[in-house]
Amino acid sequence: MTHTHQPSEFSASEQAILAPFVTDLEAPVFGLRNLPEVVKGALFSRYSRSEKSIRRILLDEFINLPEAGFHELVADASAASRNQLVAVGQAESFYDRVLVGYGDDSVAELGGAHVACEEISNVAAKLIEDARIGLSPLEKSTRYVNFTTKVNGQYRYVRESTIMQSRWAEAYEATLDHLFDTYSALLEPTMAWVRSRTPRDAQTSERAYNSATRAKSFDILRGLLPMATRTNVGLFGNGRAFEYLITRLGSHDMPEMQQISDQLQQALDGLIPSFVKRAKTPRGSAMRTYMSSIRQKLTTIAGTLPSGAITSATPQVTLVRYDDDALLRVASAALYPHTSLSLSEVHAHVATLPHGEQVAIIAAAAGDRAVRFHKPGRAFEEAHYTFDIIADIGAYRDLQRHRILTQTRQPFGGDLGYMVPPELRAAHLEEPYCVAIERASDLARVVNDELGEVSQYVVPMACLMRWQVTLNLREAYHLCELRSSPQGHPTYRAVAQQIYHAIATVHPELAAHMHFVDLNDYELERLEAERRLDKKLAQ
Ligand SMILES: Cc1cc2nc3c(=O)[nH]c(=O)nc-3n(C[C@H](O)[C@H](O)[C@H](O)COP(=O)(O)OP(=O)(O)OC[C@H]3O[C@@H](n4cnc5c(N)ncnc54)[C@H](O)[C@@H]3O)c2cc1C
Repeated sequence: MTHTHQPSEFSASEQAILAPFVTDLEAPVFGLRNLPEVVKGALFSRYSRSEKSIRRILLDEFINLPEAGFHELVADASAASRNQLVAVGQAESFYDRVLVGYGDDSVAELGGAHVACEEISNVAAKLIEDARIGLSPLEKSTRYVNFTTKVNGQYRYVRESTIMQSRWAEAYEATLDHLFDTYSALLEPTMAWVRSRTPRDAQTSERAYNSATRAKSFDILRGLLPMATRTNVGLFGNGRAFEYLITRLGSHDMPEMQQISDQLQQALDGLIPSFVKRAKTPRGSAMRTYMSSIRQKLTTIAGTLPSGAITSATPQVTLVRYDDDALLRVASAALYPHTSLSLSEVHAHVATLPHGEQVAIIAAAAGDRAVRFHKPGRAFEEAHYTFDIIADIGAYRDLQRHRILTQTRQPFGGDLGYMVPPELRAAHLEEPYCVAIERASDLARVVNDELGEVSQYVVPMACLMRWQVTLNLREAYHLCELRSSPQGHPTYRAVAQQIYHAIATVHPELAAHMHFVDLNDYELERLEAERRLDKKLAQ
C-alpha cells in the first residue's frame, strides 16, 4: 500500500505539540494517547464529515482553538506522556502475570484503545468492519465528503501494489482516474438537477437546503467510487478484539491487509502491549495459518461447484429460511423468566393456547412502543431469518455495519451488473456514469482472472453483489426501523423495507409491533434532519 501521508505535513513545532497525543506522527495507522476519553470520541466523530486526518483535526480544531478548552483538559501533556509510557511498562509485567497465570482471555477485554486507520482502501475498511464484538468503528461518509479533491495531483484511491506491479498498472490508474473524473464532471450538473427538482421553500434555511442537496448529489454519484477509494476509520475497541483483528487481517494475502495488521500491532504496542502481544507469538501465527488455510480449502472445493451463468441481476431480498414455530418460541421465551416451569413445560402450555392468546403474549412482550428506541426484549431473539440479498455495494457497505447478526459476502466484482440511480436517468446524465462503470467492471473481470482477489479494488460501488444475512427478530426490529428512516440512502432503505415485508408476510403477528418502519419515498432524504439541526443550532 502506498499512502499519501507526507512527512512534511506538520512543521517541527506542530510535531512537538502533537507528539504526546499520538503513537506516531506519520504512519497512517496510529493510536491516540494522553487525551480525555471525550476528546478521543469527539475526534473520531469528525471522521464522518471531514477530509482531514485526525492529527490535523486535533491540531486545528482542539489544540489551537481557545474555545475548545483543550489546555484546561490536558494540563501537562508531555509529563503525562512520559508517565504513561512508564505506566504502560509497569502494567505490562503485571498483566503478563495475570494473563499467563490465569490464562484468562477476558482480562484483555478490560483495557481499550482508540486507533486511527487513515487513507486505507474501502476493501480494507470492510475487512476491518467485519469485526463485531468489542470494536466500535466510525468511518468517513460518502455522503458528506467530496471525493473530487486530489492530493499531490492524484485522486484519493489506493494504488494496490500487486496490480501496480503487474501489466495492469496503467489500465488500473487510467480506469480509476476515469471513474473519479466522471464523478467530478457529474457533480455540478447533478447538484443543479437536484436543486431544480426540489427548490428551496421559505421554511428551509439556505444552510439546511445546501447541505441536503449536496448530500443527495453525493449519494447519487457514490456508485462511481471504486473500492480502492481511500477512507478513514476510527476504531475504539478492547484489547482482545484488537488482538483478533490484527491476527485476522494478517491472515489475508492482500498486501494492504498485511501492512495494516503490522501497523495496528505497532500502534497498539505503544498503548496496550500486553493485550495484543499474542498476535505476534507462534500462537498468533498458527491462528493466521488456520484462518487462511480454511479459506484456501473452501475456495478449492467451491471451484468444483457448477459455475452459475454470469448474468446481470436485479436487486432483490430473498427470505431463504425462517422458523415455522417462531410464534410459539417467542411467546414461550417471553413467559419463561416469569415462571418457575422448565422451558419445555412453558412451551407445551403455550402450544395449547388459542392463537389469539399467543398473539396477546407477543403484544405484551413488545409493550407500548412509543419510539423506535423502545426495543422488545430477548424473547424476540428466538426467531431467526436468513436472507440472500442482491444489492449495490454502496448499500452493503452501510448495512454491513450492523453487528448483532451474521453476514457473509461474496467478493466484490462486476459480474452481476450495476445499479443506475433513477435520478441520473431522469436528469439524462446516466451515459458517462454507465460508460465509466462498465469500463471498470470489464477491467475487474480480467484482473480477477489473472490476479484474483485484488481485483476487488477496481470494482465501483454501483456494482451489485450478493451477501447472506441471518438475523434474529430483535435485530430485525432495530435494522428495519433504523435503516428505513427518511434520511437513509434509498438503496439500503429498499433492502430494509423488503426485509420487513418478508418477515411481515410469514409472521404478521411478530412484525405487527415494528411500528417505525418507514415505507415512504423521499426526494431529499436529508432535508428533515437538516431542518432539525437548524433548530438545534438556533437553541
Ligand atoms: C443515517 C445514518 C448515517 C450514518 N452515518 C455514518 C457515518 O457517517 N459514519 C459511520 O461510520 N457510520 C455511520 N452510520 C452507521 C452507524 O454508525 C452504525 O454503525 C450502524 O447504524 C449500525 O447500527 P448500530 O450501531 O445501531 O448497531 P448494531 O450493530 O445493529 O447493534 C444493535 C444494537 O446493539 C447495541 N450494540 C451493538 N454493538 C454495541 C457495542 N459495541 N457497544 C454498545 N452497544 C452495542 C446497540 O444498542 C445497537 O443499537 C450511519 C447510520 C445511519 C442510520
